[in-house]
Amino acid sequence: MTVADIINEAKSTVFSFELLPPLKGNKIDKVYKTIDSLIEFNPKFITITSHRDEVTYKNTENGLFERRVIRKRPGTVAVAAAIMHKYNVKVIPHIICSGFTRSETEYALIDLNFLGIHDILVLRGDNSRKDRFFTPSENGNEYAVELAHQVNALNRGEFIDGTNIEPLEVPFAYGVAGYPEKHEEAPNMNSDLYHLKQKVDAGANFIVTQMFFDNQKYYDFVKRCREMDINIPIIPGLKPITAKVQETVLPKIFKTDIPEEFAKELRKCKTDEEVRRVGVEWTIHQSKDLMNNGSPILHFYTMMATQSVREVAQAVF
Ligand code: FAD
Repeated sequence: MTVADIINEAKSTVFSFELLPPLKGNKIDKVYKTIDSLIEFNPKFITITSHRDEVTYKNTENGLFERRVIRKRPGTVAVAAAIMHKYNVKVIPHIICSGFTRSETEYALIDLNFLGIHDILVLRGDNSRKDRFFTPSENGNEYAVELAHQVNALNRGEFIDGTNIEPLEVPFAYGVAGYPEKHEEAPNMNSDLYHLKQKVDAGANFIVTQMFFDNQKYYDFVKRCREMDINIPIIPGLKPITAKVQETVLPKIFKTDIPEEFAKELRKCKTDEEVRRVGVEWTIHQSKDLMNNGSPILHFYTMMATQSVREVAQAVF
């Protein structure tokens, strides 16, 4: 069953979540711990993020800087496979353009095909931290829609070197990202929706939204998508705020507003634990409202928020 099938057939609102691969050098146990605390809510799928190499500079004893290239969170494909085998749950690894050549992407897709993982989220990926603007890798895809076309070609059995095989027995089904408050680089909402529609027309079968804290922004986004004949499921992405610093960091990184009603409650908090409690209450409020408005699925961002997501799930499922 594809994600679209799961959502279209859901009799009541279902649960899913995103997690990150462990930091380089760490064990996979932390990932399992997250899943262990959420598995009772019967996730219909788990998405696993993907991360590009980053350039860092280390101060050395002789006063010079040493340039290092590291991927802080490697292992998306392997983590996805490990989760699928341990928990028998649908996994959706993220496949990104950023930092990867088309050839490296092809190898990742070949690995996924061998592993029997055929659902993916197709994304452009974040900028390198050192770059103000997104720069694709040499021989890499520049936009998610180009990556979608690469996946389509492989589904038809066409490799990027021009050789052909039989079409894949189980083609990749993929989702893409959508932004209720507009992607930061898009000149306006219409332009962003135009490019979203290109991804949908390429063959995406679901959209996962960037986190939002104001449901009205999500409802308006869904309405505008439907007006543009974007008719695939639009999965709302929710993130409980868990620490005071996130009140300013999340809007900065994810370009998402915090509504005044919520910001007012956060301002009253003196400790991170108070913030976490308010964050849980707000996400419960958002979840219930989405459910009452017929959302067939709620997707949660668990980064630094597993316990909060658990408390929200306990309250709403
Ligand atoms: P695109 O769809 O390519 O759009 C990028 C920008 O370019 C938009 O402004 C769009 O309007 C514009 N655009 C699109 N196509 C064209 C075109 N052909 N010509 C001109 N302009 C165009 N990042 C990671 O690094 N790893 C992850 O695992 C990850 N997971 C994510 C999961 C979700 C659900 C979301 C919402 C985001 C995630 N991100 C992740 C962040 C994401 O990669 C960034 O937001 C990135 O800047 C945009 O990705 P995209 O796939 O939406 O890009």
